[in-house]
Amino acid sequence: MSSGVNGQRVTVIGAGFAGLAAALRLARAGAAVTVLDALDAPGGKAALGFTDFSSGPTVVTMPQVFRTLCRRTGMTLPELTPARPTTTYHALSGRTFAPEALDVAGSVDSTLAQLSSVEGQRYEELLFRARQLYLDAAPTFLFGPPPGPAQLARYSLTRGFRAAPLTPLRNLVKSGPFLTPFWLRFATYLGANPYRAPAVLHNIAWVELGGGVWHLPGGLLAFAGALRGQAQQLGVQFEFGTRVEHLIVQRPRVRAAHTNRGVFVADAWVSAVDREWTLRWLGRKGRGTPRGVSGFALQLRLHGDMGQAHHIFWPADYAQEWRDVSAGRLPSDPTLYLHLDGSRAFLLVNAPPDPAVSRETPGYAEFLLGQLRKRFPLPVRDWLALSPAEYARTAAQGALYGRAPHGLLGSLRPGWTLPHLSNLRQVGGTVYPGGGVPLSMLSGWNGAGQLLGLPYDDLGGMDRVADLI
Ligand SMILES: Cc1cc2nc3c(=O)[nH]c(=O)nc-3n(C[C@H](O)[C@H](O)[C@H](O)COP(=O)(O)OP(=O)(O)OC[C@H]3O[C@@H](n4cnc5c(N)ncnc54)[C@H](O)[C@@H]3O)c2cc1C
Repeated sequence: MSSGVNGQRVTVIGAGFAGLAAALRLARAGAAVTVLDALDAPGGKAALGFTDFSSGPTVVTMPQVFRTLCRRTGMTLPELTPARPTTTYHALSGRTFAPEALDVAGSVDSTLAQLSSVEGQRYEELLFRARQLYLDAAPTFLFGPPPGPAQLARYSLTRGFRAAPLTPLRNLVKSGPFLTPFWLRFATYLGANPYRAPAVLHNIAWVELGGGVWHLPGGLLAFAGALRGQAQQLGVQFEFGTRVEHLIVQRPRVRAAHTNRGVFVADAWVSAVDREWTLRWLGRKGRGTPRGVSGFALQLRLHGDMGQAHHIFWPADYAQEWRDVSAGRLPSDPTLYLHLDGSRAFLLVNAPPDPAVSRETPGYAEFLLGQLRKRFPLPVRDWLALSPAEYARTAAQGALYGRAPHGLLGSLRPGWTLPHLSNLRQVGGTVYPGGGVPLSMLSGWNGAGQLLGLPYDDLGGMDRVADLI
């Protein structure tokens, strides 16, 4: 498809952040865009559960991507405020650690002041190791088109050796009982079991501890609503409650989608659902690689305003939690991730990617409420649980980030094209450059751009990398 798209009918499947970004880029270029989604509202993983309540993403990182997307599409982004500290970590012993992001605080002094001198030295070493990994990876794996063999070879020869390709993350970040889980946990942002993740995933720590975590007024669900509103102004049609069942192909083109509400025909397609499902609709098989982690969560309505903050409560044995998840069990002593946003709170724990694990799993939601009460009592008014079964409505097996990024090549994500199909692009958190809201939007924006023959647009991502070099 060339950039002369006026009047071309393009259908986007999925109204998560990737699908919304794709729809906006297509509509701005003059395509006639329809978005299909099985849910009743935009936002994908953010849109499950209570309708006024984000059910997934809470942490805003890479704010430049949000800002640039809004600038490109004529939207006003509510002012982002930095979370200070990024998160407060609570050990069972009662010790707390509340690091500040380097860019936000301007130095690591306030963070190091909370650590012993040995811990502090190791913190600085690992922070700057994460920064180096991020700077090395960014041009090839984050803010450029999906790399081909030539780019991968160039990366391997020039920078890849610094990513310690044969070292597991758990060896790279050894730093004593208090800080090791802290460094390990960033790998879960890509769905990894940290004990099986490669060292290169340590770069994710830089995104948060270097660039910072930001509060978005109204939260990410409201942002999804704003993206939808802007898309509608550009003429995009949304068909909610529309579940795609399979795609009709006349090689090399996808012609139509069969849905519960009839057949939709289009000239070109963007699939912004889990890649596994797109393959299934096409009668193709994935490689059967293991799925990444899922989540069990509670949306909590509170009496009163608790402000905005992130907290993490460590269990007695972080490694045991991951042994439980690997064995397909809900952890018996999980890490608690708590996000407070005014009179709402979101509590999340790691869970196995298994849609059989439902919110009715006997006693688990009540058990989590009890754990929370022990560690951080909150005035809970009412609550709703979300389990891998609910997340499986937006992700194959409920795996929040697609396949597990384990082993040497595990963190390489599939690109935006599928063999022998010229008019379909696959975008979203399960393909390049990976999961999380900013990266999902980057793939949607650029997968759609590729379909139109438009140049790659990093949405400001490389500006920040350039600032750091
Ligand atoms: C608990 C949790 C916490 C998270 N925390 C963060 C965080 O703090 N920060 C962050 O940046 N990211 C976070 N994430 C990750 C982030 O939410 C995702 O990476 C991102 O939302 C993925 O967006 P997406 O558009 O690729 O996919 P999705 O949001 O999954 O959207 C896919 C859409 O496709 C639709 N769909 C699926 N099947 C069909 C079908 N058959 N027919 C029609 N439509 C269909 C779905 O209904 C859905 O709306 C979190 C995720 C979860 C679940």
